[in-house]
Amino acid sequence: MAGREFGLDPMQARYFVIWVLLLACVCGGYSLRHSALKTADISRTLPMSLPAPSRVKGERYPAVIKVQVAQTPAQQPDFSFLHFTPPEAWRVEEKEALHQMAARNGAHLAQLINQEPSLVAIHGLVSPEKAFLLVFGGSVELHRTPLSCTEHRATRGLAHLPCQGVVWGETLTPRMILVFPAATPTTLEARPQWLLHELGHAFNLVLERNPEQRTAEANVSRADFPSPARAWQFSAENTPSELFADGYLAWVIGAGGAISWIEQAGVSWLSVILQQ
Ligand SMILES: [Zn+2]
Repeated sequence: MAGREFGLDPMQARYFVIWVLLLACVCGGYSLRHSALKTADISRTLPMSLPAPSRVKGERYPAVIKVQVAQTPAQQPDFSFLHFTPPEAWRVEEKEALHQMAARNGAHLAQLINQEPSLVAIHGLVSPEKAFLLVFGGSVELHRTPLSCTEHRATRGLAHLPCQGVVWGETLTPRMILVFPAATPTTLEARPQWLLHELGHAFNLVLERNPEQRTAEANVSRADFPSPARAWQFSAENTPSELFADGYLAWVIGAGGAISWIEQAGVSWLSVILQQ
């Protein structure tokens, strides 16, 4: 008998096989733990606890060792279009929503540039990010302040110019947009299109308010824009500046409406900006 050839009787041979199997399983368990630790070391995660191998009554082999390896932190989204200050005042969700709008703006500008040979001749084909940074002169800062629009103007010596109604933000320069308490994180997460209105003001300032003059020449009316307000329009004022800002929003989103006056001027505006 085979057992006899190894000097074991059948019962001893059975125990021998069981011990070999158990030893193999324990080694396998050690190997699993060892590789898990190496993985944890590489990803530089938080310390983890490894449960000792255990046997459940009735099982022939050690239970499968469940190793909980902490996940590496998620990659932070790329907010290169926008810069949010102060950092602690912003929620990730609203930053992502606003950044999507900025990226959409960049994609629109890149499309206009890349399909016009005279514009391509200036900087070559451009990515959405490069188009955005070229047009606005760099990333745009969104600065959340605890002051209301009127209070903030007072700090700038503009107490004689109080803001009218509820104001979410004010574009001070092409690269600086103030965000007031009326624009809560929940508000901006739900209606991030507001950013495109403000970027319309920024675009107007880049061109030294030339675009807003077109609103009078084109006899632009709010009735020309898509409705409802607060979806496609973020101002009720009929000043040239506010009319252009909402026109810019409609232009970028492609929301329709009578925006041919912007489309006709778009290439010449971009030509001026790209050659600055
Ligand atoms: Zn406005």
